[in-house]
Amino acid sequence: MAQRPYIVGNWKMHGNRAMVAEARAIDRAAERLIKVEVALAPPATLIQAIRKEASLIGVGAQDCHAAESGAHTGGISAAMVKDAGAGFVIVGHSERRSHHRESDAEVRAKAQSALSVGLAVIVCVGESEEQRDAGNAEAVVAAQLEASLPRGEHVMERVTVAYEPIWAIGTGRTPTVEDVASMHRAIRAQLLAVYGPGAEAVRILYGGSVKADNAAELLAADEVGGALVGGASLTAESFVGIVVAA
Ligand code: PGA
Repeated sequence: MAQRPYIVGNWKMHGNRAMVAEARAIDRAAERLIKVEVALAPPATLIQAIRKEASLIGVGAQDCHAAESGAHTGGISAAMVKDAGAGFVIVGHSERRSHHRESDAEVRAKAQSALSVGLAVIVCVGESEEQRDAGNAEAVVAAQLEASLPRGEHVMERVTVAYEPIWAIGTGRTPTVEDVASMHRAIRAQLLAVYGPGAEAVRILYGGSVKADNAAELLAADEVGGALVGGASLTAESFVGIVVAA
C-alpha cells in the first residue's frame, strides 16, 4: 500500500488516569516511527488527558451517540468527544452491535453525526463464526457495509473501514492471510462501487487478535491498510511491538 499503515489501539473499557503514562510512551515511540500512523481510542473519560499528553498520535472515541444533544442520560455526542479532543470515532464495533443491539441504521446515523461535526470515522464490520462456517462471511459484511457506511459527498476522505471477524476478537484466533486478503478485496470493490474511484484511498484495517508476532503477516495481506488492536494496545510495550512490525 502506498499509504502509511494506520495502527489504531482500542482500549475498550480499560484504563484510568494512571494509564495516560502508557499513551505518553506510545506517543514517544511514534516520534521514532514516522512511517506508521498511530492512534488510540481510550475510554471517553481519558480522551482529554491523553490528547494533552500525546502530541503525535491520533486520539479518538470508541463510540458516540447519534443525536446532537438532548435527553439521553449517559449518552455522549460526537460534538462532545470532539470538544474533549477526539479526532475520530469508532462506530459499529461488534461489541456495540451485539451488547447494545446497534443496528446498521444506527451505526450509519452515528457515523453521519460524527462526520457532521468534522470527525473522521472508523466503521467496523465483521461476521460471526456461524456465518463464516455457513459460507456467508462476505455476504454478511457486504450487507453491513451497504447499510452502515455513511453517504455523501467528500465523506470517504474521512472514512476508514475495520474488518473484524467477531470470532477473532480477543480469542487469539485469526483468519488465514488469504481469507483476510479475500475479504479486504471484496470490501475494496464495494467501497469503489459506493464512493467511486476515490475510494482507492479509503483505508481498510484488519482487527481481531492482532499481536506483535502476527502483525507483519496480516498487514502484508492484499488491501490491508492497518490494524485495529484491542488487548495488545493496552501497554506501550505490546502496542509499540505491533507498530514496529508494521
Ligand atoms: P483484540 O480486539 O485485538 O483484543 O482481539 C480487537 C477489537 O475488538 O478491536
